[in-house]
Amino acid sequence: MSFLLLLFSDIITLAIAMNVCEPGQDRNVAALSFMFMCGGFLNCMEKYEIYMKEALKEAELAALEDEVPIGCVIVKDDKIIARAHNQRDKSHNPIGHAEILAIQKASGIVNDWQLVDTELYVTIEPCLMCAGAIIQSRIKKVIYGAPDLKGGAFGSSLNVLDAKNINHRPEVINGVLEKECVNIIQNYFKSKRK
Ligand SMILES: [Zn+2]
Repeated sequence: MSFLLLLFSDIITLAIAMNVCEPGQDRNVAALSFMFMCGGFLNCMEKYEIYMKEALKEAELAALEDEVPIGCVIVKDDKIIARAHNQRDKSHNPIGHAEILAIQKASGIVNDWQLVDTELYVTIEPCLMCAGAIIQSRIKKVIYGAPDLKGGAFGSSLNVLDAKNINHRPEVINGVLEKECVNIIQNYFKSKRK
């Protein structure tokens, strides 16, 4: 019981430190606010992982086709409306990246070039071309798994969001199932070297 009281007291201290509540605010309200905030964060992470697993399934399909395994899904109202994987080699298409193909499919589904209120999940950090397409299509949030140090355009190689006066800035979340997203790429290149 004393352990629970101590935990409750710690939660309130942390809630005040994180500005979730004001000092002097009702202790029960403070603790509840904080726990709801934590619960929301955990729910978000759980949701990100569920959809990233779907993007990983697309990456696996790319590997089966001997393409660099990168997969993408686009989600609207908690439903996947488009999914795609890298098809650059197969289609001899330099813009056949998973994100571009998924954006084209999603636009066809919603009958609009503006993909407002959508989330794009991709296993690897988008390149400059795909980051441009994400901005142009007004995607609300981008969630990616592994960074791309050589070509990632959301912070690893450059950050397109640093550009002045762009008219849309998606929220970007990184590192979701990063290990799994790195592994699938590394395994692909290892197998190619053999
Ligand atoms: Zn790309």
